[in-house]
Amino acid sequence: MRVILLAPPGAGKGTQGERIASRYGVPHIASGDIFRSAVQSGSPLGQRVKGYLDAGDLVPDELVIELMLGKIVAATREQGGYVLDGFPRTVPQAEAAAVSARETGAAAQVALYLDAPQDVLVARVAGRGEDRPDDSADIARHRLEVYAKNTQPLIELYERRGILARVDASPSIDEVSKEVFGVLDPWQDKGAS
Ligand code: ADP
Repeated sequence: MRVILLAPPGAGKGTQGERIASRYGVPHIASGDIFRSAVQSGSPLGQRVKGYLDAGDLVPDELVIELMLGKIVAATREQGGYVLDGFPRTVPQAEAAAVSARETGAAAQVALYLDAPQDVLVARVAGRGEDRPDDSADIARHRLEVYAKNTQPLIELYERRGILARVDASPSIDEVSKEVFGVLDPWQDKGAS
């Protein structure tokens, strides 16, 4: 199972990503989690990315691509697939992922687009409260703008590639999971195709 999750902040891609990972036995690779734990540990990577995360800006493509491609290739080889949460997030990231996938046979089978109206997204992010510094109202609004500008174009890109599947992310977590599994279950036994 090789899945890309595409979703604005607040759509619930972290939650659904974990559920997909446990249902299909593939690793949940979440770029935001990786960056947040790097910041917390104070590692060299963390020091380089902290400013971007705090501001709700994207980490530069070169840094993200180098980090993520290695993880994707390793997950495909060692764990039979992946669910990608937060990568790719820009057109150059998607292109780099596609080039790497052609070389390694790690191309995603499905790009799952979790969609919800803007007011639902804003309310959910605000509702997470103090858990994440970048969830404060101003920064959260900025992240939605960054998403619209940089990540929205990927929806069309994956639609053209014929792998886009859209799921409404407004209902409850369980209802969304049910829809998501309905999309992904048919891929379960298709192996490397
Ligand atoms: P959300 O989807 O709620 O915005 P994430 O946890 O996916 O949250 O990402 C948090 C932050 O991590 C982003 O605002 C950005 O600074 C950084 N980040 C994560 N993934 C990427 C990526 N693929 N490219 C650039 N920056 C990223």
